Order: sequence, then C-alpha cells, then structure tokens
Amino acid sequence: MKWMLQYSQELFQEYSDYRVDEFRERSIHPELLQKKLDDFVQQSAGLLRIRSAGRSFENRDIRLISTGNGEISVILWSQMHGDESTATMAICDIINYLFKTINKNITRQILSSLRLLFLPLLNPDGAARNQRRTAQGIDMNRDALALVTPEAQILKQLQNEFKPQFGFNLHDQELSTVGPKKEIAAIGLLSPSINHDKSDNDVRIRSKFIASAFTVTMNQFIQGKVTKYDDSFEPRAFGDNMQKWGTSTLLVESGHVPNDPEKDFIRKLNFLGILSTLFAIASSKYKTFDLSIYDQLPFNGKRAYDVIIRNIVIEHAGTKTTPADLGISYQVDTHSELPPKLVDIGDLHSFVGLREIDGKGKSIPESLLSINQPFEWERYF
Ligand SMILES: [Zn+2]
Repeated sequence: MKWMLQYSQELFQEYSDYRVDEFRERSIHPELLQKKLDDFVQQSAGLLRIRSAGRSFENRDIRLISTGNGEISVILWSQMHGDESTATMAICDIINYLFKTINKNITRQILSSLRLLFLPLLNPDGAARNQRRTAQGIDMNRDALALVTPEAQILKQLQNEFKPQFGFNLHDQELSTVGPKKEIAAIGLLSPSINHDKSDNDVRIRSKFIASAFTVTMNQFIQGKVTKYDDSFEPRAFGDNMQKWGTSTLLVESGHVPNDPEKDFIRKLNFLGILSTLFAIASSKYKTFDLSIYDQLPFNGKRAYDVIIRNIVIEHAGTKTTPADLGISYQVDTHSELPPKLVDIGDLHSFVGLREIDGKGKSIPESLLSINQPFEWERYF
C-alpha cells in the first residue's frame, strides 16, 4: 500500500501546481467550464479528445472529454445536481494534472492502462440557476429508468456505448456528521446497492475494493472524517443502476470542513482521492485492499448545523428566562444560501457547528426567535 500513500502525499504537496485557478467559487457558470475545457484540449497536444455528448433541455452542450488508450474504461461524471460543483472543479484539476505530467511514470501507467471518460457538469441548466434539479424540475438522479430528461439519456447512452468497468459518481452531500459523533463528515463514500437485500455480486465487490482504496488515501489527511452514505437501494438512481448494468461504481460525496466555504480543501481531497484510486485500478492493486476498511465506515449522521450559538438566555414576557443553544442553517439542498434560518432551540451539546459561537452572558427576547424562519443572528451575537 506504500506505493499509493506515497503517490497521494506527492499529489497533496504538488496540488497547487495543477489547481485550476479560474474556479474560485462553488457556483461556477457552465460557460466558464466550457471555455476552460476548450483551453485544455488546445494545450494538450492531442492527449485529450473532446466531443459533444448531447444537449441539455435548454440546449446547453454537455461534453465528454476522454484520454488514455487502455483496456479498462472508467467513466467519471459530476454535477448531476446543478448546485454540486466541487467535483466538477476537481475533475478539471485532474485533467490539467494528467496532460501536464505526461512524462511522469505514474501518469503514463494510468493512461496506458485506462481509458478515462470525463463528463463534468451533467446538469448545466441546474448549474446556471445554482439549483439541484434540471430545467424540467426533475432530480435526474431519480431518472435512470424513466429517462425523461435528456441529461439522464446522455449518461445512460454513454454507459451503453462504452460499457465502462468502473464509474465515479461525484456529488456534494448535505452537512453531516460522522455517525452520532460531534465530528463533521468531510467525505462520504458508497458502493451503491443492487437490490433491497443489499447483496453483493462481482461488480459491487469491485466497487467496494475501490471504496477501500479511496478510504485509505483519505485517512492520511482526514482520519476519522470519512463516512458511508445511506446504502438503501434506490431503484431509480444512477449509481445503483450503473452497478446493475455492470459498471462498478463508487459514489463520492463532498462534505464539509470548518472555515472552507468554497470547499477548496474538499476539492483537493477529490483530486488526490480520485487520482490515487485510478492508479490503484491501473496497477490492478485495488484488489489487495481489505474490504472491511469500507464496510466498517460509520454512516452519515445528522447532528450538525452551520452555526451553533451556545449558552444564551431567552427572555420571555415578565421575568421568566430559558437557557438554550441555537442551531442555525444556511443549507438549501446541498449548497448554502442567505438568509440563515433558525432551525433548533434547546440543548445542542451533542451537536456540532461548522462554526461555534459562545453566547455566554448574552440574552435575546423570545419574540425574535421563530423556528424555521429567517434569523439575522449576526445582529444579536
Ligand atoms: Zn447529488
């Protein structure tokens, strides 16, 4: 395993050389991505191939970038949910890395063993609105069978055309904790189920191997902050169906760390986690990982808020008071949005805030606190 740890450490050190600096904010516009992809292809001296994979409901181009000429095909798709751009940016960092390091042995090995198929930004209409769903109002990750969205048709068609052995299904997740712990989940992983019994077959076991490889890489940088995503079978989702169609699929969910609103660090983790796992696949060493590393990951828990203000006093009419903590959320689907909302009042000692504020000695009148309503907390604390 030393080979992979060494590689991911190297990637960690060198990341800033390959990070695409034009992407600074999570809400990247589809046009900026297209421009960057064109730049890459021009600079890559033939290493990258690009083609239109089809068009979105509102006629935006969805493009497939491919490279490598190996026997094993790997498809990587991101941003089926329009507000989940972290991995789209990481894919661009990875593409940038691959053609800039073509003289490195590991890059050569990856590109001679694998055929990489990148589909960054599958839902450009949703991205243009910074919303989860497509322009038709559909969650395209529940459209793998009905295929009423052109975006889902594109992904299904590419699976059918290339029959990739491996797939990376790249998302951002809701603010979550590591099981019931007061620890925020940085990365969530899942080998999707193929039926309600969650049974294994060869395809799923292969994806569990790469989930273990990915976890080992992550543990060097975020030990104890990797979780397992809900593994209930979802008959309409792409991950689950990709596995059924023969593509060993790993769901990677970008989570959160404190003081990282644009998720730069999580993007970096995607970069080195994906590249290290591709190396594990290219070298066939992925089969040497212990499956229990993935199997024993704790599930995501729901004991986190964006902001927790602790130890305040609520003033009621008359002289009565209540000691309490306040939980505040900015979450809309999987992105943050103003205004903040007050989502919890009471004992939050077993919860964790992305940001924690000590309100000791401070009080607030009851009239300002309405649950699930906007709450301009910064005016009072
Ligand atoms: Zn998602």
